Amino acid sequence: MTDQAETAERPKLDKAALIAKYAEERAKRLRADGNQQYLQITGRLAHYLDDPYTPVTPRDPLSDHVTFAFIGGGFAGLVTGARLKEAGVADVRLVEKGGDFGGTWYWNRYPGAQCDTASMVYMPLLEETGHRPSEKYAHAPEILAQCRRIGEQYGLYEQALFHTVVTDLEWDDAHSRWIVRTDRGDAFTASFIGLGTGPLHVPKLPGIPGIERFKGHSFHTSRWDYDYTGGDPNGGLMEKLADKRVAIIGTGATSVQAVPHLARAAGRLYVFQRTPSSVDVRANAPIDADWFAGIATPGWQQRWLENFTQNQAGGGAEEDLVQDGWTDLSRRIREKIMQLPPEERTPRNMLAAYEDSDFEKMEEIRRRAEAIVADKATADRLKAWYRQLCKRPCFHDSYLQAFNNPNVTLVDTDGQGVQEITETGLVVDGVEYAVDCIIYASGFEVGTEYKRRAGFDMTGRDGLKLSEAWAEGMRTLHGVHSHGFPNAFFVQPTQGANLISNVPHNLTEAGRTIGMIVRHALDQGAREVEVTREAQDAWIEQLLTGPGRMLGSPDCTPGYYNNEGQDPGPAAALNVGYPAGAAAYFRYLDAWRSKGDFAGLAFR
Ligand code: NDP
Repeated sequence: MTDQAETAERPKLDKAALIAKYAEERAKRLRADGNQQYLQITGRLAHYLDDPYTPVTPRDPLSDHVTFAFIGGGFAGLVTGARLKEAGVADVRLVEKGGDFGGTWYWNRYPGAQCDTASMVYMPLLEETGHRPSEKYAHAPEILAQCRRIGEQYGLYEQALFHTVVTDLEWDDAHSRWIVRTDRGDAFTASFIGLGTGPLHVPKLPGIPGIERFKGHSFHTSRWDYDYTGGDPNGGLMEKLADKRVAIIGTGATSVQAVPHLARAAGRLYVFQRTPSSVDVRANAPIDADWFAGIATPGWQQRWLENFTQNQAGGGAEEDLVQDGWTDLSRRIREKIMQLPPEERTPRNMLAAYEDSDFEKMEEIRRRAEAIVADKATADRLKAWYRQLCKRPCFHDSYLQAFNNPNVTLVDTDGQGVQEITETGLVVDGVEYAVDCIIYASGFEVGTEYKRRAGFDMTGRDGLKLSEAWAEGMRTLHGVHSHGFPNAFFVQPTQGANLISNVPHNLTEAGRTIGMIVRHALDQGAREVEVTREAQDAWIEQLLTGPGRMLGSPDCTPGYYNNEGQDPGPAAALNVGYPAGAAAYFRYLDAWRSKGDFAGLAFR
């Protein structure tokens, strides 16, 4: 079909009507209780956090010393650990609450779990480990295997502590070291610490009245109960569900991936929806071994990472090596802007072009629901009425199709959520749906306090608590170093590249930086490294010259991107990245590191 024919067929967008519809749908979902609507999983609900995958092994508490302790055994800890080992730091101890490495990918073993960013750039250290991803978008078991591979290859298992939750981190000024205390009775010391606890690791439950009354079976998607469902994380049929009535609450990125598998297995599946996700084409494909051998020349993954970031968050590159949903999204916006004559490329017109491209994309996604879902009323309810980046965009080729199965019912709550849970089922609009099992695809804590999510409030120099130091917002250099917390490194995207479409890229760069800094400190015989207050203040000032937060617009439909539609307070203004964008940040960081003096850090 030619572009002209396409244009002729499509009705012109009525932007005013769309804006009104978006606002109307948003208003339905706004709740006064914001983040308070969710239940913290403690007390009688604590069993929802039990590890269904690995039994806990008893061990004696530790009171020894290591050069580097890292809190978290997910991607952040693994890539930092790997870089430290490469830099010749022999004793690196990762402390992890799960029973193995993997973090997100340890816990999220729900059927269909898969990365949404192309695995060639998403999976860390592919070149170093020599692993060829099997698919464009790898499934969870392969990603978990990659985590284990990194752990094995870099000897990170030797000192790792699993099923161990850090309860306290305290700077011991007299000895220039950290004291690490855990829920297993450990009180060991470390010359340096790293923190990679991740933003989305504490599951939450919806605060639906009656949730504790339900007498059937229930679990959260991040603790999938294969004993109950049958099947396995590789997508094996969950045969034990054949005679079961199953409810899944939530239709976010997790549910979108799990629903097709549940639809295939369950006697009856009810999908309880509050806000539909935007579900675009996935187009997964195997990665051909010959093709891979051709491109995997030395330095390939770094080239791919840089190309992805340049296309996604750097103004475009001549070539798009990765070609996934994210680079497609950016390309469309750029093309729209390029259609403007150069003299008309003002910030205002560029914003308008961006909005146009978004309206068009979302119309396309809504039409996709219409084209795939046979029942018109169901198709209509699956349409997302908001801008694409208001919520996590999803990509899937069998989610919408699942609603054509006769055993699947979409229970749309018209933005209100499930009304009540009874002993035997769920109530929406006064109608009770009797079920045997409830699966909570209700997501993870995001808007809650850092210390609640981390489980500790670290104490730096002179008794300074992190919660005090960051009371008015996060304060760091590069998102990694914070004044008052010597020898401590944060491994996460904010105040650095802030590249959300490929979080691992932020982590691998931070890991590389930390490896070099610790090596430098050890070589210099420095016992402490700390960012100066001046360097930190200057960095914060620079961050504030940027365009502000890219995600989380208050006029979006409520969700964790925008603090459930409530004012996040002034501290959120600091949850930003490098003003010139992610690609520019990585170039800046590379130059900063290469100079070798690590300007802004004081080595003592
Ligand atoms: P989300 O927080 O994205 O989704 C939670 C879902 O639960 C939403 O649909 C929410 O509705 C719904 N919900 C909450 N309360 C109620 C209620 N009372 N009644 C009915 N529904 C309710 O969690 P996910 O686990 O889906 O995803 C978390 C994040 O993890 C993603 O955003 C993504 O960043 C990441 N992820 C990444 C994947 C990947 O890369 N492949 C795959 C899966 C997840 P509402 O929208 O109205 O709030």
